[in-house]
Amino acid sequence: MTYKPQHYAVVLRAGLACALLSLGLVATGVVAWPWLFGIVAAYVFMAVTNSAGFHRLFAHRSYETSKFWETFLLITGTLSCYGSSLQWCVMHSDHHRYSDTEKDPHQFHSFWDVFKSNYSTDEVPLSSKRVIARLLQRPFHGFVHRFYWAFPAAWSLIMLAISWKALLFCYWAPVGVVILSAALFNYIAHDADGPNNSAYSVLFASGEWRHRLHHEKPGRWDLREKWWHIDCGAYLIMLIKR
Ligand SMILES: [Zn+2]
Ligand SMILES: [Zn+2]
Repeated sequence: MTYKPQHYAVVLRAGLACALLSLGLVATGVVAWPWLFGIVAAYVFMAVTNSAGFHRLFAHRSYETSKFWETFLLITGTLSCYGSSLQWCVMHSDHHRYSDTEKDPHQFHSFWDVFKSNYSTDEVPLSSKRVIARLLQRPFHGFVHRFYWAFPAAWSLIMLAISWKALLFCYWAPVGVVILSAALFNYIAHDADGPNNSAYSVLFASGEWRHRLHHEKPGRWDLREKWWHIDCGAYLIMLIKR
């Protein structure tokens, strides 16, 4: 029941197929158009909570929060279907350590690679990395890693109990969009000169922007330097940090 890197392409393509099906159902009048707000709202929710949770809290420990919010962000990140917190944090710490080298887990040689894999490794190695030891101080991370797919399955059943439209528009379709947006961000936020602050990347990750600054100061939870900079993850962190 653990997440395997080869699940990436299956889940992404299935999620995007659900997104296209959703658009088709709205275009043909089978489903009322306000359901499209479900896709947008769930996508923004997952993108922002993953920025504040898996990325800035679990991978970088850039702020402190309560056990309630840690658990909440662990579950919401798990429901996004792109790996357990342990796998994600190992992959991400390797990305920071080896960025733009042969060992960088994000290897995109062309745009189309984002549909194949977000990791270059066949298996994300869960070794004696420091980030793993730190996360496992809370055993729930290990439990979620072990029974990974039970969480998306349980949430799917809950949404289905509400309605099939809730499952399609508020979960499965936005999962495809959020996985694609994360891969597009990783593709765009690095170029031949390394990590960049490209404004285009803000479109794909709900404010997980200014990536060069993030590589320079990975312990910083707020990536805004000007009043007009957008950082949705930081807006959430302002509300939940201690
Ligand atoms: Zn990077
Ligand atoms: Zn990072």
